[in-house]
Order: sequence, then structure tokens, then C-alpha cells
Amino acid sequence: MNTEQSEIDKPRANCGVIGAWNIPQASTMAYLGLYSLQHRGQEAAGIVSMDSRKLYRHAGSGLVADVFKHKGILESLPGDAAIGHNRYSTTGPSSHDNCQPLLVEDRFGPIAMSHNGNLVNYKSLRSFLEDDGSLFSTSSDSELILQLIARSHAKSVPERLMEALRLIEGAYSLILLTKNQMIAARDPFGIRPLCLGKLGDGYIIVSETCALDLLDATYIRDIQPGEVVVIDKSGLKQFQFADSKKRAHCIFEFVYFSRPDSRIFGDNVDKTRRKLGHYLAMGHPAKGAEIVISVPDSSNTAALGFAHESGLRYEMALIRNHYVGRTFIEPEQRMRDFGVKIKFNPVAGVLKDKSIVVVDDSIVRGTTLKKLIRHIRNSGAAEVHVRISSPPIIRPCFYGMDFPTQEELIASSRTIPEIKDHMEADSLEYLTPEELLASVPHNNGQGYCTACFTGDYPIKIEQ
Ligand code: SF4
Repeated sequence: MNTEQSEIDKPRANCGVIGAWNIPQASTMAYLGLYSLQHRGQEAAGIVSMDSRKLYRHAGSGLVADVFKHKGILESLPGDAAIGHNRYSTTGPSSHDNCQPLLVEDRFGPIAMSHNGNLVNYKSLRSFLEDDGSLFSTSSDSELILQLIARSHAKSVPERLMEALRLIEGAYSLILLTKNQMIAARDPFGIRPLCLGKLGDGYIIVSETCALDLLDATYIRDIQPGEVVVIDKSGLKQFQFADSKKRAHCIFEFVYFSRPDSRIFGDNVDKTRRKLGHYLAMGHPAKGAEIVISVPDSSNTAALGFAHESGLRYEMALIRNHYVGRTFIEPEQRMRDFGVKIKFNPVAGVLKDKSIVVVDDSIVRGTTLKKLIRHIRNSGAAEVHVRISSPPIIRPCFYGMDFPTQEELIASSRTIPEIKDHMEADSLEYLTPEELLASVPHNNGQGYCTACFTGDYPIKIEQ
């Protein structure tokens, strides 16, 4: 039996976070927002709410719809402030203990926290704290931040948080809730997105703006890299806890992770993803191709951009079954193609005798795309040209995305012609790192992390 081969061959985003302050039925708003952020993490979900008396928590393994399916759960999370979290684990196993928001009892009262990202100096800091007597109740890197807050002697939670953040390195977009404040923070490189919205007299903080749209909230601005925002009864205050001279926004958020209807790093994902398709078509046309198809859903927008630039017709030729869970188990090795077939079915009437350009956003191991190419050919396509709207992935991510090991990344050990032969495609071309950087916005001196494509890690990785 093999569950891995049934997975779609993509990196997995680790988390989505949301916070609601001074909003009636805040836990229900957090719950709805988590639905919009479901693509950022599907292993676990949770909400902590706050009323005038205390903080309340519910979290568990599964999709948002599963975790909150029983009547009465949202009613058990009262108050007009709440934070929520969708998780896919990148450090620590996906056990119940690692579900977020984490909730701890500090000497000054309860603190809850939702974290999107990954700390790169986690191991050394944790060893240091354990040697000094700290006890950890989870194996997730997020708990380390709470431990550092607890050890600080500063007077307020925001000050203690800022002290803690100066010790940690890596990617973090955080939302914390105490009995009288909601606090948001973003790492100095701004690796993961985090933005602020307004709803009535209250505030909403989310990973992506698609959650603001659902809640009818208005986008105000991004939480800035190196910034802490504190919201309480008296309003909103902002503090810069670290210099943010160099930005390193995750460029893969534009390529694949974020929803196309979101605005991240101050710009529209849809617009940028179309540009990726434009540059791909300009630099890497497919001679003799008649139609453009996408691997749904993540490459739809780039395929539209490719079709528009190349003047070719865009067709829906792969139908995705949205009802297959990620734990679909292939019954036997000899049935291993069923994992892909059950998820994508080619439309033979569209493909027959046609020379096709298949646009996909990325290739990780190459397992899914190889099988898809075979199915497209079996459906009658005359030629299959593959165009990838990002460069070859040659290194893993250490900043909060789940990639396989470097050895498993097909482009870490094979050339593009070798990958083409392995895929049995008629041609294969990728966007170059230069074309990728030319496609993304550069407002206000934005800089990007491109480490998985170039090996150039903006924050040193602890061995
Ligand atoms: S290594 Fe890749 S996925 Fe990770 S933050 Fe950098 S660009 Fe994003």
C-alpha cells in the first residue's frame, strides 16, 4: 500500500492564521475565515476565543469542516475576540498536541498564539532552554516563542514578545491573544504574508486577503516586516522591533501557495500569476502547439496568461475531482496510476489529435506530471509540450513549506532534457530565475526569497 503516491506532487503550505478583535461572534468569523485559508493547511484547525472572563479553545485534526462539525462547538467559544489556525506540520508530527492556536497559562494570565512559518534556530534555542530547565509540551517550533515570552522580565506582553522575537530566526507571521490585547508580528524578512483589515469598529488580521473578502472586511495594509501591531480597547499601536533592510518575501506564494483571488505582499496574486504565464510564453513558446491546457487548479491562471500571450486557445481538458481526500490509499502497487487518475480525468474530445501545451506551476518529484502526460497521450493527444511557470526546484524550503528531501527533488540531480525524457514529454521548458523575478512586483523595494530555485537562502540554516 502506498499513500504517498496518491498525493498530488506539490509542496505543501504549512499554515493559515486569522485574528478578529472587537467583532461580535468573533469565533464564528474566525471559523468562516479559516474556510478561506483551508488551502494553507489541511491537517488540523483550531480557534481560541476570549470574553471578559477567560480564553476558550477548541482544536483538532482534520479540515475546518470536520473540526467544527458538532453543534455547540462555536457556541462554546464566546466573546468578541478570537484567533484561528489551519495547520500543516513542517516541524513536529501532526499530533493533537501540536494543533494550534497554542494556549498557555503565563504568570500574567493566559496567552494564545497562531504561527505561520518555521524557525531555523529552533533546535539550538530549544536545547539551550531545556538545559536551563524549561519543559516543552509539544514538539512544534511555535511553542519556543511562548517559552521565550514566559522567561522575559519585561513589563508587558508586547515588550516580552519583542524580546523573544529578537532571539529567534526564521519565518513567522504570528497572531497572539491575551485577556486584553490582540497582537500581530511578522519576521524582519517578511517571508510569509500577513495583513490587516477593518470590519465595523473591529479589526481582522489574516494570512491572505481572500479571508477579508469573505468576511466583508476592508483591507488596510500589510503588517510590515519587523513590525508588531497591538490592538486593545484604546485602539491600534505599532512598533518596529527589528530593522528590516532586506525583504525576502516567499516568491513561491505567488507561484503556487496563495489563492489567486488574494492580495499578498501588497499585490494581486492573479495579476502576478498571469504575468508568469506571459513571460513563459514569451521566452518558451511551443512550436506547432494548437491549444493550451492547465493542471487544475493551481496553474489555471498562469495557463491563461500563456494562452493570452501566445494567441493560442485555452481549453479545460483536465477535470479535477475535488472530493478525493489526501489520504486516498492506492490498494495495490500495480494500481499505482489510480491515484492520479482518480484526481484528474482528461477530456478526450478536446485532446484528440491535438498538439497540446500543458502549463503547470512547478515540478517537485515529477511523479504526478509523468502520469498525467501518459493519460493525456492515451486520450489521443498528438504532442504534449510541458511549460512550467517557475524555475526547476533544486533545494528544499526551511521557511515553512513542506518539501521532500533534496534527493527526492527531480531537478536537484537531473538536467531539464533528462527530466523531459523521464516525463516522456515532446518538450519541456521552465521559466528562468531571471524571468520569475521580472514577473513579480517590486513596489517599495520588495525583495524575494528564491532559495528553492537558486539555493540562495536569505537566512542561514542551522545544521
Ligand atoms: S525556499 Fe522557496 S518556498 Fe521556501 S520561502 Fe524561499 S521561495 Fe518560498
